[in-house]
Amino acid sequence: MKRFTLFLLAIVLTAPACAQTSAPRRSPPDVYLITIDTLRADHVGCYGYRQVETPGLDALAADGVRFTQAFTHSPITNTSHITILTGLLPSVHGVTDFGVPLSPQHVTAAELLKKRGYQTAAFIGAVILDSSTLAPGLDRGFDFYDNFPAKTETKQRWGRVERRGMEVVAHAESWFEKHRTGPHFVWVHLYDPHDPYEPPPPFSEKYKGHLYNGEIAYADSAVAHWIAFLKKAGVYDNAIIVVTGDHGEGLGEHGEETHGLFLYDSTLHVPLILKTPAVAHHGTVIDAQVRTTDILPTILSATGVAAPAELNGESLLPLIDEPAPASRELFGETDYPLRWGWAPLRALRAENTKLIEAPRPELYDLQADPKELKNLYAPDVAKLQAMQAEMAKWKAKLPPPSNSGKRGETLPDPKDKIEVQNLLHNAMLASDDDRSSDARQFLEKALQLDGNSPTALRQLGELELAGGDFTKAAVHLKRACEVRPDDSTAAFELGEALEKSGDWPGARDALESSLKLAPSQMTARLLLGHVYLQLKDAKNAADQFEAALLVDSNNSEGRLGLAEARIQQSDFAGALPDLEAFAKSDPRNAAALRLLAHAYRGLGREQDAKRVDEQAVTLEKK
Ligand SMILES: [Zn+2]
Repeated sequence: MKRFTLFLLAIVLTAPACAQTSAPRRSPPDVYLITIDTLRADHVGCYGYRQVETPGLDALAADGVRFTQAFTHSPITNTSHITILTGLLPSVHGVTDFGVPLSPQHVTAAELLKKRGYQTAAFIGAVILDSSTLAPGLDRGFDFYDNFPAKTETKQRWGRVERRGMEVVAHAESWFEKHRTGPHFVWVHLYDPHDPYEPPPPFSEKYKGHLYNGEIAYADSAVAHWIAFLKKAGVYDNAIIVVTGDHGEGLGEHGEETHGLFLYDSTLHVPLILKTPAVAHHGTVIDAQVRTTDILPTILSATGVAAPAELNGESLLPLIDEPAPASRELFGETDYPLRWGWAPLRALRAENTKLIEAPRPELYDLQADPKELKNLYAPDVAKLQAMQAEMAKWKAKLPPPSNSGKRGETLPDPKDKIEVQNLLHNAMLASDDDRSSDARQFLEKALQLDGNSPTALRQLGELELAGGDFTKAAVHLKRACEVRPDDSTAAFELGEALEKSGDWPGARDALESSLKLAPSQMTARLLLGHVYLQLKDAKNAADQFEAALLVDSNNSEGRLGLAEARIQQSDFAGALPDLEAFAKSDPRNAAALRLLAHAYRGLGREQDAKRVDEQAVTLEKK
């Protein structure tokens, strides 16, 4: 019976336009992807959790297929979402950290569906998925991608770094109203369950003391709103709707408060609900292990769109009608520890066994020990060889490891650093919320645990730099540069701190080394020019400003700096034309007028010098 319904579904979904002109041409199904950030599968009502109400998700599961054993390949937001949208493993698509652009060679769901005439739009709940900053390339194929405004006045997180679920859904609904002609591919991302846990009322009251649950209940209400909208718009029945989580949340398991560092089920096990247009699928539950790479192949298969050659997952549709579908192996990855100088992890999850590759590797019997508390790793364990052989097969599919992969062997095990990471994460949240004294406390504590933490050193340096304590800032940043000599930002910031404390030779050395690592930094180059001016090294100052002007010939700081360097070299005639032009185009720039007066004086034009000096004095008084 079930097999028959799948057959029918395939006809409905994939049949080409009917040759008989009299038959109505059926529109391809709409596709709605909903990703709920940081959502543990075991914290959803229809997954058996009783301490949270998720009627929206439960109703959708009743109308579709619920996969009880779905896993993400990555515990990091960007990486995981790109895996969902490309059907590729993190190492294959290469976006293993924030800000890394998605290479155009990897095609996305939006591109594939757009080519088939879909109207495509994405609505994101966090700046972390903003394609203009932290997630470049993620907007490819979307007609509309709801990025955050480039500038906001507000200091609070809402609207600046995060949107509440209801706002995300409101944006999607208003877009839909203006784009009623289908087919549609709409992706809605609800960030709410991500920390800090701050659900709005009444969820903040109802779930007092369990605010993570409150965020889930709130996100669920946004899902319910969106689904009700789609029903009212008349597109629900024929739609394919996929709901999943990008990763779970540690909630203290294995010492991990949030997510990203480890590959335990607490952060890899996610909900996955698939509603198809087929009524026969209602309420189906599948216990075979599946992966988030399977989502894109499923969407393509259900819409009859040809799959790209490069895919790491497989369609879930055949599983729905199999009496005993086979579990699929999950290859898990996290390079997130590398951010802090710790070893990246790889995991292989078979149905009942998990192998985690780490400096101290782990092996778990998931049936006897689902919480992964008893590490069975030992060279003579029978299961180990089989798991290692399977792991090797997966690794053979990956591109050759980058430098960071090689470095992994000598780096600390993230298990030994989890407390430091929790503190660094808390410091980041505190900084985000402008609570600098809290941030300082977390960072200092982190440094007590790990005196060589490059992140703690750099962030503490940045905090002191922003607070105006340049001597302290320089101490931390100097250490940060010693620990991580390839960090051009730390070196630049050290240069800044030393420049502000009047240590010109120190600032020069730091800025030179920063620019050696990253030559295109305009701000660093201009600052180095000024430092050379302070050192009365006019030739090197001129070189820096000229280099800056090669990149941006109109840069006013560069032009003024170069003029000042020429004056220092007593080349008054050389400085004059640019300063006169400057005084014309920007007559209210007192600093430029002072330099112009200096040049006149050098050329013996005392009258002109006096006149311009007076103009400068008037401006400075204002
Ligand atoms: Zn996330």
